[in-house]
Amino acid sequence: MKSIPLDNWSIERAAEVYGVREWSAGYFDINSEGNLVCSLKFDNQGEPANGLPANDLKKVNVPLTEIVEGLQARGLEMPVLLRFENLLDERISKLNQAFANAIEKTGYKNHYRGVYPIKVNQQAQVIEEIARFGSRYHHGFEAGSKAELIIALASLNDTDACIVCNGYKDEEFITLGLHAIKLGIRCFFVIETPAELPIIINCAKKMGVRPLIGTRLKLAAKVDGYWNNDSGDRSIFGLSTAQLMDVVDQLKQADMLDCFQLLHCHLGSQIPNIRNIRAGVLEACRYYVDLIKEGVPLGYLDMGGGLAVDYEGACTNATHSMNYGLNEYCVDIVEAIAETLDQEQIEHPVILTESGRATVAYSSILLFNILDVTHFEPAPYPELSSLPEDTSASLKGLYAVLDVIAPRTLQECYNDAVHYRDQVREDFSRGQESLRNRALAENLFLAIMQRIVAEMPKVKRIPTELENLPESLSDIYYGNFSVFQSLPDAWAIDQIFPIMPIHKLDQAPTRDAILADLTCDCDGKIDTFTVDGIERSTLPVHAIEKGEDYFMGAFLVGAYQETLGDLHNLFGDTHVVSVRVNADGSFDYVRELEGDCIADVLSYVEYYPKFLSESFRSTAEKAVRAGKISPKERQVMLADFAASLTGYTYFEK
Ligand SMILES: *Cc1c(COP(=O)(O)O)cnc(C)c1O
Repeated sequence: MKSIPLDNWSIERAAEVYGVREWSAGYFDINSEGNLVCSLKFDNQGEPANGLPANDLKKVNVPLTEIVEGLQARGLEMPVLLRFENLLDERISKLNQAFANAIEKTGYKNHYRGVYPIKVNQQAQVIEEIARFGSRYHHGFEAGSKAELIIALASLNDTDACIVCNGYKDEEFITLGLHAIKLGIRCFFVIETPAELPIIINCAKKMGVRPLIGTRLKLAAKVDGYWNNDSGDRSIFGLSTAQLMDVVDQLKQADMLDCFQLLHCHLGSQIPNIRNIRAGVLEACRYYVDLIKEGVPLGYLDMGGGLAVDYEGACTNATHSMNYGLNEYCVDIVEAIAETLDQEQIEHPVILTESGRATVAYSSILLFNILDVTHFEPAPYPELSSLPEDTSASLKGLYAVLDVIAPRTLQECYNDAVHYRDQVREDFSRGQESLRNRALAENLFLAIMQRIVAEMPKVKRIPTELENLPESLSDIYYGNFSVFQSLPDAWAIDQIFPIMPIHKLDQAPTRDAILADLTCDCDGKIDTFTVDGIERSTLPVHAIEKGEDYFMGAFLVGAYQETLGDLHNLFGDTHVVSVRVNADGSFDYVRELEGDCIADVLSYVEYYPKFLSESFRSTAEKAVRAGKISPKERQVMLADFAASLTGYTYFEK
């Protein structure tokens, strides 16, 4: 691993090392005091700028440390999931505005209607805010299950907005959607399998409702990135061309072809390459044209999700990055549709997209503190001269290596050190070396490795075998959070999230660390970071003084992480706090949701706190009877037991 130049430290350099200006889409930055800030723009009336072009925009910077101080004053301990309401508002507006601009620029003759896919973050607060901020754009919802349709129906009261129902739909699901149509809501059933159509036709006839029907295409266009199986012939979703023709025929027969109004495709999530998106749109347009020619009165084209988030801030087509911007995405879609349909003189459809990730990722941040640090540094060791005469040759060998480490002999010293250390280990196994001597040998070995690493910057070509040495000697910083609960994709699919300290950024970080979480699971760690634009296994962090609080943030965690998280080791939901930033730079804690307490998580796995208390009480009573504790001591124990049940599942101060 190449070392990162950390001398000549400045705020500018901090921004580069942690990539803030690359991954944050302008929403986060570092202020002159070295604190990470959420950066928002307001117009001269104090209204959020929301990506609208305006003069005299005023920038407001809120340091995350101030928010943390306020939380501590309110008794909320770390970890906390922090949401910026403003960022949801901003993202929805930006998306709608970008499509509106692209439509105006290309002279497209219809409008855009976004829908938010509920599965990406179903939390009631998030949905409520999306409904509120989206209402001025008639932003609707995408539902993939009955439960999500219920959320959509209860959250949306706008006959100009759309609800798009994907997923497998039974009679109950369809009945609910047909009720929505009666209420005047544009609720589309997107047919994913041929089996759904007869149920829709029957229910609709029974209820006397003309349904709105769409079909999901299985596009051949292949995409890069992690979710490339959502498209292509083997995609588990969508209709083959033969099935699509069958749908047309069945609808004709049922005299319902006029209900078939929407064409849907979803190429996959987090599509890093704009060329794939363009190819997908062009292919979908061919279907659109030919279905119109078949007499299908289509009027809506839904390009699904896939708009990426640049988690790495690299602007490339790597899996966790993207090689395009929001405006380019919108212009490419609008242009490709217009060009294809104009050639056939077909009217432009309403364009829908189902952007989830790009809408909600930015607004949530996991804030956590560092509880402990492990350094891989040698303890003080005795001089060779103070050891007894009969000290083994291997131990003496390790001392000798220590004396000769120099840039030109690194590989040789490394080889010798490994040899002598292994010799001591073997001798220990045979009973010929004491435990104390083995401990000394391991310590000397560590001292040698650290010295080798210290010499490495002076060497032009580092021997391959030594390349990973700095990493294997890096610190472990123990964070007060659970990867499984709060960053499940970091564990499950090696997703990279931007992670960095939220203060002390005016000082050069002097340590290199991986992050470990609170679970006692060897997968409960984070060891992939983007640093100085390069993927690395360690993150530069600051040394922590004794008793000092050190706060870090994991960013762009608003999409998919909250409900996918699980209860590994019974770490429950974190506290969630929503903040609204005002035009004068002040902020309000608009919502506060207390995280799970221990009794909560125990009840999720079928324990009843009352029974647990009773059982512990009788154990303590037995001890009183046996004279092991006094009744007074029993009283204290029971009180502590009860207090633990109401405690936070994370580490409390
Ligand atoms: C998951 C999903 C989405 C959301 O995709 P993003 O990449 O998060 O925007 C949209 N549509 C469908 C059908 C989905 O399954």
